[in-house]
Amino acid sequence: FTPIHRSFEAQAARQPDKVLFHLPDGGTLTYAETEHTVRRIAARLLADGVEPGDRVAAQVEKSPEALALYLAVLRVGGIFLPLNTAYTGKEMDYFLGDAEPRVLVCSPERQQEHAARTGGGDRAGEVALVIETLGAGGEGTLLSSETTADESFQPDADTPASILYTSGTTGRSKGAVLTHGNLASNCQALLEAWRYTDQDRLIHALPIFHIHGLFVAANMTLVAGASMHWLPTFDAEAILDLMPTSTVLMGVPTFYTRLLKSDRLTPQTCAAMRLFVSGSAPLLAADHEAFEAATGHAILERYGMTETGMNTTNPYDGARKPGTVGRPFPGVQIRITERETGAEVPDGEVGLVEVRGPNVFAEYWRMPEKTASEFREDGFFITGDLGRIDEDGYLCIVGRDKDLVISGGYNIYPKEIEELIDAVDGVAESAVIGVPHSDFGETVVAVVVPQPGSSPEPQGILAAISDDLARFKQPRAVEIVDALPRNVMGKVQKAELRKRYAELFT
Ligand code: ATP
Ligand code: MG
Repeated sequence: FTPIHRSFEAQAARQPDKVLFHLPDGGTLTYAETEHTVRRIAARLLADGVEPGDRVAAQVEKSPEALALYLAVLRVGGIFLPLNTAYTGKEMDYFLGDAEPRVLVCSPERQQEHAARTGGGDRAGEVALVIETLGAGGEGTLLSSETTADESFQPDADTPASILYTSGTTGRSKGAVLTHGNLASNCQALLEAWRYTDQDRLIHALPIFHIHGLFVAANMTLVAGASMHWLPTFDAEAILDLMPTSTVLMGVPTFYTRLLKSDRLTPQTCAAMRLFVSGSAPLLAADHEAFEAATGHAILERYGMTETGMNTTNPYDGARKPGTVGRPFPGVQIRITERETGAEVPDGEVGLVEVRGPNVFAEYWRMPEKTASEFREDGFFITGDLGRIDEDGYLCIVGRDKDLVISGGYNIYPKEIEELIDAVDGVAESAVIGVPHSDFGETVVAVVVPQPGSSPEPQGILAAISDDLARFKQPRAVEIVDALPRNVMGKVQKAELRKRYAELFT
């Protein structure tokens, strides 16, 4: 077992002059240059008193130094805790209070704000919180000194490496404690399944405070010894410019929806590309098909979550089936169960998706009861997603357990209704939710986004789907909106929709 930071250090020794980062301004940083930055940041963290097991929180913009900070935290044995740059006041209070980091790294603007909140860095009854800023170097940053740390921490497979907070789609974010073994084993599985090597050049346009950008895209690149185009955010034009000098793109579904709007998306533009990956939220089957028609490439959809890393993937060779997330990665087990009894359901039936394997996290940070209730006795983790296994053994995610609508005692899976609505002429996409209803407990509401230039009527949509849907599943209201509320990872915020329409039937 080789932990991620040691694999990176081995690459830096093997190919010091290889470019790791290609930056938007044309600049580059090699493996050796990046490793030097890692050693300098590590020295500063040690000077700040970071010891193995201490949390180091980072709320920083995406930069090469931000990735070096992650590696430096692992190098000194700390637990890396990245935070969404959008979090403000109260949210930060929650995360800092929950995780109790030794060091918080943030922007100079935020430094003042945090220092004010934490009383100049000291919080009662605890070791002082050290607040640092990250920058390309210079006065007052983590990189202000040339001192380097030469030792590199050697963890066990079950030593915690990171606390990664979940996206908060279904409730308050939970801290998932991921071990060095979790990260390393999942990375190896991904490298093999997607044939990722030092010949690859990735377009990296994801945020690095989330599993997708950090533990999938960045880890794979660092461990393989590959290169990446490092973009601060998603920008369709910039990505299209980079495709001729790249081989792989990893994105959330909205990346693909937006790329599809460009007439520059052609087989010629993508000629050098070998792989397009999608995950973090469901990819519309229509987008999968449109992308293949435009480029000749079938997007490879995979399924994972903060707590488990990546669980299943469509195949590199073989059919990539739209609307499915493929089969388990080697070493990962998936089963579909009945919620109450925990018994496995027959293939083809919908149930809870459970997962077991070296990728599955250790525990929810300081939530022993939550940890206990989400694990079965035999070690399977209950993901909270609903799914079924199709005739080819591929997993289909049909939604989240928490989004299941129970109306008049019947279970209604939103995805089934969404797929029918999405197929109606003039509809771009939809989200089906349950809202409180005085007779049925809950009833179905469809929130529909029209295609540009179309104006489908609620009555027409209902008429178009009514033949294919039992009466109790038919939406009682169709709300037409310009766009669905999404977070930065492209996840539809159904909780927000439920709030918005909570009083329609009460
Ligand atoms: P929270 O757990 O705080 O409610 P979250 O589950 O959205 O937030 P993440 O860990 O970022 O936080 O997301 C994991 C979830 O994303 C999965 O449980 C699943 O619902 C969804 N997901 C990821 N990939 C896919 C995919 N390819 N298709 C459908 N859903 C996916
Ligand atoms: Mg979740």
